[in-house]
Amino acid sequence: MSDSATTALMQGLLRPELLASKAYAVADGEGLIKLDAMENPYGLPAALREQWLESLTDAPLNRYPDAHPTLLMEGLKAHIGLPAGIELMLGNGSDELIQILVTAVAGSRRPIMAVDPSFVMYRLLAQQLGLPFVGIPLDADFQLDLPAMLAAIAAQQPAIIFLDWPNNPSGSLFPETDLEAIVAAAPGLVVVDEAYHAFSQKTFADHLGRTPNLLLLRTMSKEGLAGMRLGMLAGPAAWIQELDKLRLPYNINVLTQRSASFYLRHTEVLNAQAEILRVERERLFKAIRACGLSVWPSAANFLLFHAPGRAAVLFSGLRAGGVLIKAFTGHPRLGEYLRVSVGTPAENDRFLAVLESLL
Ligand code: PMP
Repeated sequence: MSDSATTALMQGLLRPELLASKAYAVADGEGLIKLDAMENPYGLPAALREQWLESLTDAPLNRYPDAHPTLLMEGLKAHIGLPAGIELMLGNGSDELIQILVTAVAGSRRPIMAVDPSFVMYRLLAQQLGLPFVGIPLDADFQLDLPAMLAAIAAQQPAIIFLDWPNNPSGSLFPETDLEAIVAAAPGLVVVDEAYHAFSQKTFADHLGRTPNLLLLRTMSKEGLAGMRLGMLAGPAAWIQELDKLRLPYNINVLTQRSASFYLRHTEVLNAQAEILRVERERLFKAIRACGLSVWPSAANFLLFHAPGRAAVLFSGLRAGGVLIKAFTGHPRLGEYLRVSVGTPAENDRFLAVLESLL
């Protein structure tokens, strides 16, 4: 079949939003110190690794996984500290749960709203599912502009407002009272995305169930188990029941279920790692500032810094020096900003040494 026949077929079948969108790009970190994706740089300690592997040995790979792993879900509810009566739904990463949420409201034709900049997936999924996306600009210090947000909510009547708390990529932890005002004003759902909870140690979980429109997202990715792919959506039972209809029946594979159960018995390991990362975050913050660069206080495991006129040079210089960080080429506001995830002390030292050599 000719190329033009393929194009014609695709244009006839695929939504224009899909054809116009770009695939989510993941940088190749092979051989580099990976400080681009907010992963935990530590693995399981050797002794625990053995026990973890043992816990997988009799995992029945010939059977479908438990479609509703009750014990694991009860363990996760207790781990998050969910109020009584709040239900949980599991996803193949929280990305999948965001997709389910946006899919669920796609028929409403009402916008998806978030602050700008924030986690890119909210906008990407809205666009892919044909919904308008409204991004409310953060102020010059990457703080929430509450009056602008409330005005936009009233004018646009969004189906879902996603608030990442702390915010990716700025690390800002918006005032809890702002979140409360947004939940009270929202005509639709508000989803508080606490992907970086291990580093902020703040949660909005105790608000769940007090209003009918609040849901909470968590993930195991940032605190140390990104490869496991386990996200959690918590909310009132009625919402979870409906949203669960969109979840594919066996979305959490047996190895992930076993690994998550194992992790729940050893949470102290990742807690200790998160503590080291929180200390390193403050050291990195001071060191970047000492380089003469503007850097924003962060409640997460990454830092955003401004490098006017030289972001591209720093990014490629760091890469050449063996360190991969995140650049935001193409973003209208963040073109001259860079984001670095907090690594081990040695990785952070390497990042700082290369950065200093480039300045
Ligand atoms: N929410 C936020 C705010 C994020 O920054 C990310 C990852 N960058 C995710 C959700 C997705 O995490 P995962 O799919 O690994 O659970």
